[in-house]
Amino acid sequence: MVLALPHSFAQISGFSQTMHDQSQPRSNHLKRHFARRVIHQARMTLELWQRLQSGVWNAQEMAALVESNRLLLRYAQRFEQAEHSQLATGINHCLNAVADNKGRLYSEVIAELNLLMQRLSRTGLRHHDELEEVVLPALRRPIYVALQDPLASKRLSMQLQSFGLFTQVFDSLDGFNSALAVRHPAAIVLDVDFTGQDCGLRFAQALQQGSAARLPLLFFSRQDADTQTRLSAVCAGGQAFFTGTIDASIVLECIERLTRIAHFEPYKVLVVDDSRAQASFTERALNSAGMVTSTLHEPNRVMSELAEFQPDLIILDMYMPRCSGPELAKVIRQSERYVSVPIIFLSAEGDLDKQLDAMGEGADDFITKPIKPRHLIATVRQRAARARSLHALMVRDSLTGLYNHTHILQLLEDACGRARRTARPLSFAMLDIDFFKKVNDTYGHPVGDRVIKSLAVFLKQRLRKTDFIGRYGGEEFAVVLPDTAAASALKVIEEIRQHFAEILHPAQPQDLFCTFSCGIAELQGSEDGKMLSKNADLALYSAKQAGRNQVALFIR
Ligand code: GH3
Ligand code: MG
Ligand code: MG
Repeated sequence: MVLALPHSFAQISGFSQTMHDQSQPRSNHLKRHFARRVIHQARMTLELWQRLQSGVWNAQEMAALVESNRLLLRYAQRFEQAEHSQLATGINHCLNAVADNKGRLYSEVIAELNLLMQRLSRTGLRHHDELEEVVLPALRRPIYVALQDPLASKRLSMQLQSFGLFTQVFDSLDGFNSALAVRHPAAIVLDVDFTGQDCGLRFAQALQQGSAARLPLLFFSRQDADTQTRLSAVCAGGQAFFTGTIDASIVLECIERLTRIAHFEPYKVLVVDDSRAQASFTERALNSAGMVTSTLHEPNRVMSELAEFQPDLIILDMYMPRCSGPELAKVIRQSERYVSVPIIFLSAEGDLDKQLDAMGEGADDFITKPIKPRHLIATVRQRAARARSLHALMVRDSLTGLYNHTHILQLLEDACGRARRTARPLSFAMLDIDFFKKVNDTYGHPVGDRVIKSLAVFLKQRLRKTDFIGRYGGEEFAVVLPDTAAASALKVIEEIRQHFAEILHPAQPQDLFCTFSCGIAELQGSEDGKMLSKNADLALYSAKQAGRNQVALFIR
């Protein structure tokens, strides 16, 4: 059964652990082999797409993308990978439309292309996919653990396994070498002093020199290391350096970062301009750099368009018939939700005083026409990038990197709106760690923090990319599950609960287990996010009452 797989780590980095890896029949083995080729080609396509996002599109890079996608389509058809075939066909269609370059539709094509690329980046690696069973064992690669202290090695290995990873522990350089000759790992956790002072470090240096592709190396040192050691570790290709006690969830975060298929959302720009010619010039310039645009000729629709399109940046005309750009900027800034979206004026107005007045209403920049497309693209991209990183700081919780309380509720509200419009189910789950006060009291606050972090990592791994995960409060978490009825949500969270309860968290004087309780509610009729979270909270309360370490559904 698919649910029994630790599926989600595969979701982010292509690992999994299955019970029947070695005993697959031959036909399955072949199928896996072919699936891998398709996946490889999909990655090539994604990489080319990614490269296109960083500059003005040029013919050569476009041609490479078209060719890569053509190969993907061919492999997918030949090896009967239906989902890849379908996506490659769609991408091909979009790329043809881009080549035709038919005016206004261009932006829609790019948006669609981006959507298809995002789906492609998740294919075959997703929970519940038919393909999953075929693909995952092939992508499963172990983490090699080589620490000086065999007990520490064993402990880390067990923890990583409880997170759903496959590990191999070494106690000698010979064993390590022969394993490497057979199979390259997904990552290596190596003690700088493995088998003797600085031996691990020297071994790594030799290893990287002899190998064409750099191995992802995470170094460990029991003592705090000096700068020289750290420098040598970096030179030997070390991607991280841990000291003291090593925590599986931190290692995991690192591996996730190293192995993730980078995933770039194109910038979205809202253009408000009453002149069709000007708007179309702006759009074309931005589209030619892979940005997605939406244009309004009527300023009075700006608020609804903001909510619908969620732009990263807004370009406003200074003079429009019904209202001025600065007035519109003021209206936008009055809404708390859009205070951090950059606003740029684009106008022929050359009077510096007027420009400064306009900026006073909350705009971030003023660009005078005529402007070269390159200049416009550079300005927009740089502003949008900065706004995105600031936004990430605003909406994320610093301990876990999950969405914070305010933002997860906002996302829940948005999801409720979408679910009502599309008549799709939506579930909301609230989780709370059991007896957490006791964890803090017994083991100290830092250990408590680590438990919170490990639950965050665990949720990120095990839920779908389309789910939103937030830290609701101290040791409380919230998950928005779009397209999911309560019964399916229950199944997924119940499985997470069981696995989380098996994790042994490192602590002194002894390691500890932790559990959580969860309440789930499904959206009904015209309910809003507030109602839904209240219901989930009631369900959580009943799970606590019923003895904790369980998931309860809200029953009407
Ligand atoms: P219950 O099973 O009923 O949920 O019991 P509990 O002890 O988990 O619940 P309670 O709400 O009484 O206590 C939660 C504790 O979580 C209290 C607070 O000190 C602690 N806490 C809140 N935020 C953090 C944090 O960021 N880090 C750590 N280490 N502890 C936190
Ligand atoms: Mg609590
Ligand atoms: Mg609690």
